[in-house]
Order: sequence, then C-alpha cells, then structure tokens
Amino acid sequence: MNIAIIGAGFSGSYLAHKLHAKGHDVSLFEKSRGVGGRMATRYMENTQVNHGCNTIQTTVKEFQSFCDSMVEKNLLEKKEQNAYTATSINGMLKYLTKDIHLERNTLITSINYDNQQYTLKDNNNYAYKGFDFLILTIPSAQILNLDFEIDKNLADKLAQVHYDSVATLVLTGKNIAELDKIQLSKMKHLKKLYAPKDNTYVIQMDRDFSKKYRHLNKNSITPYIVQEIQRVVPNFKLYNYEYFSHLWKYGLTSKTLDLPYVYKQQENYAICGDWLMGDSVEDAFMSVENFMTLESDFLESNFMHLKELV
Ligand SMILES: Cc1cc2nc3c(=O)[nH]c(=O)nc-3n(C[C@H](O)[C@H](O)[C@H](O)COP(=O)(O)OP(=O)(O)OC[C@H]3O[C@@H](n4cnc5c(N)ncnc54)[C@H](O)[C@@H]3O)c2cc1C
Repeated sequence: MNIAIIGAGFSGSYLAHKLHAKGHDVSLFEKSRGVGGRMATRYMENTQVNHGCNTIQTTVKEFQSFCDSMVEKNLLEKKEQNAYTATSINGMLKYLTKDIHLERNTLITSINYDNQQYTLKDNNNYAYKGFDFLILTIPSAQILNLDFEIDKNLADKLAQVHYDSVATLVLTGKNIAELDKIQLSKMKHLKKLYAPKDNTYVIQMDRDFSKKYRHLNKNSITPYIVQEIQRVVPNFKLYNYEYFSHLWKYGLTSKTLDLPYVYKQQENYAICGDWLMGDSVEDAFMSVENFMTLESDFLESNFMHLKELV
C-alpha cells in the first residue's frame, strides 16, 4: 500500500518504521526542518539540547522493551529502572525514519479523497498524489485546521480535546556556573529545571504561566520568563548567556479523546498520537501499537488485494 503519514514526531516516525517493515511504501510529511516534533533537539554553542521532552518514563512492558532495544543501539540511555534519556533525544526518531521518504518543511494544508486515492496539498499549493491510506499524527486542533472533510461526529469529539501550552527557556554558556541553581529552582512558576550538560539549563514553566502567555510567540515570551527568574535571582542578566525560548502551543494534553486511535475504514484513514489517551511518549507508542495490532488484518488484506491487482 502507498501510505501518507502527516507529522514526524514520535507517533509518525514510529508508524512509518513499522509500516515500512511490513513492506508498505511510506511517505512522511513534516512541516519543520526535520523529524522530532515535541521530542526536539537543537544545536547551540556546539552542544545538543533537548528542549521538549527530555526523559521518557515507561510503565508498560512493551514500551520498556522498545526503549531497551533503543539502548542496545546507543540511541537511549537508561537512567533508572523505568526512565530513559539521550543527549540527542530525536536521534531515535532519525533512526526510525532512516529508510523513509521524508518531505521536510512541508506544511500540509488540504487533503482530498477521490476515487479511493488521497491527494495532499502543502501551503505552496504543491500536490502529492496517489496514496491508498492516510494517517494523521498531528494535534487534534491542527487536524481541525486542515481543509479535510471529516464527519461531524468526529469533528465534535476532536474539538473537545484540550492542551496546555508549555513555555521553555534554554540558557547556555560559560556564565552558567555563576547562576545559582538553588535560587533558580525556587522560581514560582517553574515546572521543571534540568541541566543536561555542565553549561546548560532548561527551564520549563508550569501550566498557569504558559496559559497566561499562550497568545504570545516564542520570542515575545522571553522577557516574561526573565521577569520570573529575576524575582529569585535579582542580578540575572539574559545577555550573559546564549539562549532561546520556545512556546509549545500544543505541549501537553489536558483533556484526551479517550480512545487509543481513530480508524475510518470506509475512508481509509486513521489518527494516532499521544493526545488520544494521554500526554507522553508512552501514550504515543501505545496509540501506534494498538492501531497496528488491532487493525493489522485490514492493512495486510488491503495490501494483498492491491498486489493482486498489479
Ligand atoms: C516541554 C515538553 C516536555 C515534555 N516532557 C515529556 C516527558 O518528560 N516524558 C514524556 O513521555 N513526554 C513528554 N512530553 C510529551 C511528548 O513530547 C509527547 O507525548 C510526544 O513527543 C508526542 O509525539 P507525537 O508524535 O504524538 O506528537 P508531536 O511530537 O506533536 O508530532 C506532531 C508533528 O506533526 C507536525 N505537524 C503538525 N501539523 C502539521 C501539518 N499540517 N503538516 C505537516 N506536519 C505537521 C509537527 O511539526 C510535529 O513534528 C513533553 C512535551 C513537551 C512539550
């Protein structure tokens, strides 16, 4: 089968890997420069920083086995019994998609299903044609923004999914040693402070702070985070550091769909992602696993049928 997947975060990358291993032709469409989504790694001052998800927690056996297999390939490090990390967390996604046809910098804006074939169009009106099956792995709000006909019942359910935004600020450089970590960790709206390297801090703000400023963009949010830092470290000066901030608009799910995946058999499309059941990489993994396990007969039989036609 010729399958189009929209979104190259963990869900899209893992799906692409699994479907490719089953012999399907997979094309992955990603609006950013590369794979990663919220498992983003950025180069800064010759160092790599995970500024979205940095640690993966496992509670289910299948996901723990998957993470252990990534440890064997040196793509993850085991921190504790059920926790994994990596210097470059999106290295794992690069590995999963190494044999996949990836269209980067491609924002899909419209989807048309005609004569059992999908045609996708990007924001430059460029058309990608001839897909038998479509899988969306993007946040529900972004699905609703597409020019794509979905039934009203599903559209209503997607509209009920809610997200909390997450604001982050990464600081690096030689002056980090002088920044008082104990004082910094007393910030009122701090959700998480971690130091992946000796010269780097990642500051993740809590949902109240992020909610208040979610209308801003990643650059205009910086002064507000600085203001919060200066409340606990009054002499903090941003210009002493290399830095960047980010606002993850659809950072963490606050209300899920409460279904492991969506599968529309008649229209040959499916939806997977963390937000269907939760807000973690494990939830994204389980969404894909459930879809692939419970619907694999269909994927196999359709594939055989198409092979016979050829
Ligand atoms: C700051 C932060 C910290 C986190 N910490 C943890 C943690 O400690 N542990 C944990 O397990 N999880 C954590 N998470 C959550 C975790 O990152 C997500 O659960 C997981 O990465 C979701 O993967 P996904 O593929 O389902 O979605 P995403 O990563 O959101 O992938 C969707 C992709 O689709 C692309 N896209 C969207 N629209 C389009 C379009 N129209 N056309 C083309 N491409 C499109 C996006 O660019 C993106 O790459 C954290 C998230 C954030 C933001």
